[in-house]
Amino acid sequence: MTTPQAGADTSPQPLPSENPSVRGCDTDAGPGSVGAHVPQPSRIPAAEKPRREHAIVIGAGFAGLLAARALADHFGQVTLLERDTITDDAAFRRGTPQSHHAHYLLERGALTLEALLPGLRGDLTTAGVPVQDFGEAMRFFLPSGWTPLTTTGIGVQSLSRPFLEQQIRRRVLALPNVTLTDGFRVDGLVSHGPEPTSIRGVRGHLDGTRKEIGADLVVVAAGRGPQLSTWLTTAGFSPPRERSVDAQVAYTTRLFEGHPEDGWTARGVLAYAPHAHRACGIVAVEHGRCLVTLAGAAGEKCPVDDTGFQSFAESLPDTFAADYLKTHRPLTSARRFVDHGNRWRLLHRERTWPSGLVAVGDALCLFNPIYGQGLTVAALQAQALAAWLERHESTRQFQRRAARIIRIPWLMATSSDLAWTTKRTQVLPRAAHWYLGRLINRIPHDLDLYRRFARVQHMRTSPMALLAPTVLAKALRPQPIPPAQVAP
Ligand SMILES: Cc1cc2nc3c(=O)[nH]c(=O)nc-3n(C[C@H](O)[C@H](O)[C@H](O)COP(=O)(O)OP(=O)(O)OC[C@H]3O[C@@H](n4cnc5c(N)ncnc54)[C@H](O)[C@@H]3O)c2cc1C
Repeated sequence: MTTPQAGADTSPQPLPSENPSVRGCDTDAGPGSVGAHVPQPSRIPAAEKPRREHAIVIGAGFAGLLAARALADHFGQVTLLERDTITDDAAFRRGTPQSHHAHYLLERGALTLEALLPGLRGDLTTAGVPVQDFGEAMRFFLPSGWTPLTTTGIGVQSLSRPFLEQQIRRRVLALPNVTLTDGFRVDGLVSHGPEPTSIRGVRGHLDGTRKEIGADLVVVAAGRGPQLSTWLTTAGFSPPRERSVDAQVAYTTRLFEGHPEDGWTARGVLAYAPHAHRACGIVAVEHGRCLVTLAGAAGEKCPVDDTGFQSFAESLPDTFAADYLKTHRPLTSARRFVDHGNRWRLLHRERTWPSGLVAVGDALCLFNPIYGQGLTVAALQAQALAAWLERHESTRQFQRRAARIIRIPWLMATSSDLAWTTKRTQVLPRAAHWYLGRLINRIPHDLDLYRRFARVQHMRTSPMALLAPTVLAKALRPQPIPPAQVAP
């Protein structure tokens, strides 16, 4: 966990109201000139000022904001460069098209966020997003029936992605040494010489003018695009090797007015290879609205038109989604997102990784969002960034730390997703998928198993907990037939 510098105020602070769009950058002369539009007196005592001078974070999305939070304890100045125009509201923006879709924050992610930004959970509660018990507030229809209604001890909050990002952004931009320059599109990394060994800054465009900004460290948090590989190649480094597994999942999401009348916070139908192709999630979010996502795997897609959306909901093995749609008013049209493959850039394996450069978040590893891991992994990487800076290790060592965070969520996501693909699967993921399927079949009938499973799903305990002798015995017992399909 990052410990803020003594005297640094990390408590939530609203952005200056007279300056809702925190943009502007007049020169390319370096850190002193960037982001001067958010005038905030430094509250860090001079004797305790961080030693390193300037860090740049490319991308002010979820991972970029949290990275800036971690860097603020170690650099005199942290500059976030963001291509979108950023306002102080919880608005959707082009640079994060996934924001239209439900974002489910695992408990491990929520606790990590709280460690990085103390007080966030309480402030969200005050803003009308209470912490609820996962097993009581959220229930899922598995191929074998409904998850039990039970207390799990796992605390969750249900809110939209733009609202969560707004709350985080306000807190991070209130830090005295963090500034944001929006409207800045980075298009390259600055290196020197024919055989470069380090990255010394970035180049890009602001208001049509070419800029180059120097930094001691550049953190790439530019999300899911291919830019990192292109930037590395242009700067004289090899593009990183990648691993990918694509279950061809597609989300179609629409925002509705009104929470469900019977008080639940989230209901879902889960897809599971090879037979259960269709899934859905209804998630109650802030301001009395619900996000309804209808999803398909292995190439199956829910239509975006009204009739197609309704009939997809009616095809699901439970009627709760179709019933909700019939009785609630849509506030937006339906939007589809299809690029959901898992992709890991294996930076920790690169022999010639440059100093002065690290990558986090989706720029490093994308997960199929159906497992809700991306936000949590990005938050854990921000913590790792802080620990790495404390120890003054090499940038390659940071990428190894980040890889250790990714390994288990990657295994969990891909062992299920490989079962959807035509790729020849290795024995371990095949066995994991088979074993998980046995456990999932038992969950509707077994409270203890469900609680253990939920703790693994929320990344509170290692998946090894599901290999405990008692659990193993449950998996190997004859399977419950027929599956329980009792509506909640
Ligand atoms: C449909 C969908 C649903 C999801 N649901 C969940 C969920 O339920 N739970 C969960 O944990 N995760 C979920 N995720 C994953 C989650 O959205 C990502 O893991 C998370 O956003 C990663 O944060 P990031 O900062 O790396 O990328 P982003 O949040 O995408 O931010 C990248 C930022 O970089 C900026 N940028 C890009 N290029 C440049 C450039 N050249 N110059 C300057 N700025 C640039 C972009 O404008 C953007 O602001 C979902 C993803 C999708 C696609």
